[in-house]
Amino acid sequence: MYLKALEVQGFKSFPDKTVLNFGEDITAIVGPNGSGKSNISDAIRWVMGEQSSKALRGGKMEDVIFGGTEKRAPVGFAQVTLVLDNTGHLFPSMDESEVAVTRRYYRSGESEYYINRQSVRLKDMTELFMDTGMGREGYSIVGQGRVDEILSTKSTDRREIFEEAAGISKYRHRKEEAERKLERTEENLVRINDKIAELE
Ligand code: ATP
Repeated sequence: MYLKALEVQGFKSFPDKTVLNFGEDITAIVGPNGSGKSNISDAIRWVMGEQSSKALRGGKMEDVIFGGTEKRAPVGFAQVTLVLDNTGHLFPSMDESEVAVTRRYYRSGESEYYINRQSVRLKDMTELFMDTGMGREGYSIVGQGRVDEILSTKSTDRREIFEEAAGISKYRHRKEEAERKLERTEENLVRINDKIAELE
C-alpha cells in the first residue's frame, strides 16, 4: 500500500487546488520553513477523520480553512482527497484497486465525507481505516513529540497502539458499541417492567 496522490483545496496554506502525485518512489518532502510541509501531513491526518483541532495544530476546526493573506481573500471551505493504492487489499471491504477518500468542511461547521465519491458518514471513514495502522488511532503518522508521548503514556493506552497494529481494534470498538446498546436495552427493560407493574 502506498499513497498515490493528495489533492488539497482551501486547506491551510493551499487556497488553490493543488495535486501532489506521490507514486511509489517519494520518501520525503523538503522545503523552506513555513512553506507548508507539515500542512501536508495535517491534510492526510484530517482527511482520515481527525477530529482534534489540537492534533492539527489549530485552535478550532475552522482553522484548517485557508484564512486569507494580504493578497488573497479567505475561502469558504476546505477539501482534501487522498488516493491510496489498494492492489494489496489493505482495505478488505473494498474491491477497487484504488481508494479515494474525501473530506470537505465549510465555515458553517458542516462536514462531508466521501469514499470513492460515495457520500458516507464519519463512522464509515473511521471503520475503513481501522486496523490498517492508518487513521485517527493509527501509528502511520508519528508527530513531533509522539514517541516521548507513547513511552510515557499509561500501559492501557500503550495497549491500544498494539491492538491497532495487531488488527483487533475494530473488534474492540464493535464490542464497546454492543455493550452500550445492551446497557440502553437493559435500562429500557427496567422501565417497561415498571410500567407493567403499575398496570397490574
Ligand atoms: P517548518 O519547516 O518551519 O516546520 P512547514 O514547512 O512545516 O514549516 P507549515 O507549518 O506546514 O510549514 O506551514 C505554516 C504556514 O501555513 C504558515 O505560513 C501559516 O501562516 C500557514 N497557514 C496555516 N494555517 C493557515 C490557514 N488556515 N490559512 C492560511 N495560512 C495558513
